[in-house]
Amino acid sequence: MTDAAASTPDDRRAAIAQSAVVVAASAVCQLVFLWVGRQAGTPWPWLLAAAGAAFGGLVLLHLLIRSGWSERLEDPSLSQAHIQYGTLSMAIAYPLMGVYGSLVLPLAVALLTFGVFALRGRQFTGLALWALGVLGTGMAVAVLGWPRQVPGDLALGQFMALCIAMPSIAWFAARISVLRHRLEQQRSELSEALVRIEHLATRDALTGLANRRHAEAVLDQTLRRQRRGGRPAALALVDLDHFKRVNDRHGHAVGDAVLVAFARAAESALRDTDLVARWGGEEFLLLLEGSDPLAAESALARLRATVAELAVSAGDEILRFTFSAGLTPWQAGDTAARWLDRADRALYEAKAAGRDRTVLA
Ligand code: GH3
Ligand code: MG
Ligand code: MG
Repeated sequence: MTDAAASTPDDRRAAIAQSAVVVAASAVCQLVFLWVGRQAGTPWPWLLAAAGAAFGGLVLLHLLIRSGWSERLEDPSLSQAHIQYGTLSMAIAYPLMGVYGSLVLPLAVALLTFGVFALRGRQFTGLALWALGVLGTGMAVAVLGWPRQVPGDLALGQFMALCIAMPSIAWFAARISVLRHRLEQQRSELSEALVRIEHLATRDALTGLANRRHAEAVLDQTLRRQRRGGRPAALALVDLDHFKRVNDRHGHAVGDAVLVAFARAAESALRDTDLVARWGGEEFLLLLEGSDPLAAESALARLRATVAELAVSAGDEILRFTFSAGLTPWQAGDTAARWLDRADRALYEAKAAGRDRTVLA
């Protein structure tokens, strides 16, 4: 239960449970009330009407929560309504219970604490004033209507005790609600920070691709799956051709723009399930799970076609670039080092053979 309109399934379950507790407690209270009311000599019709209204109102609130109707309200748990209705019922019960009226007072004070999960500081002040108002009225009615059963000085003493207890409990409940709210806020800030930290730890700052550390972790997981007889998988090491020239001629910023352009191209040309990582400098690692050598080669051909279309502007010039790749399928018994080493040697061959090509090892 929060003060936001949309409550989580947990909030809803808690609100339904809380309201059910109030309804159950009310059922017991009504029985005690009927018995005590009779002892005080109050006529049955009055007692039954008051008990029925008190219990019926709380059941209605419970149904409004259970049916989901209250979800449209700012406080779907209807905590404030429960407390207001509960204290009003007790204020009505007070004169009907005659000399035993004071029995409702501790219950009224306890009811206020039900708001700690949903209500805020100022609402507790309002509720305490409401409770004092309606209970004070009930007491006045008892004193004026049944002066022999409820002596004025007794009622006044009870009311003064209530004037101390109500604000104290309201203050206490408000404090707990503030602490709870702060805790919730800290928890959400912490989980946001965790997401940010995870992003920083696994992403390359320039291209936003997975970084080397993350790629190594994914590679490890892939190898574990492969050893258990997974689907085919292929690994490619990609290196941009003559990248040093780009930097030398156009500056580091243009070099960076080329790296970012390549990263976006790789992401769009490959499947969502393929890993594209920045392995270092202008070198990238592609991990194609579920691709046999033929499929992996055609994926790299697709990437080559996409990169061929790229045009990075460098001042007045339009810059185009190519890449070389060493591609190799996973083979039984491969460790990460062996798999990478084979890809690296294939990449070297691609460079030696004139660049702008993929060599399959
Ligand atoms: P080859 O075709 O043989 O791969 O030639 P090359 O020029 O690409 O190879 P080399 O390894 O000599 O140059 C790589 C260059 O990449 C050198 C380095 O300054 C540059 N580089 C590495 N990281 C970055 C980066 O983050 N930004 C930029 N702009 N340049 C980078
Ligand atoms: Mg290089
Ligand atoms: Mg290079």
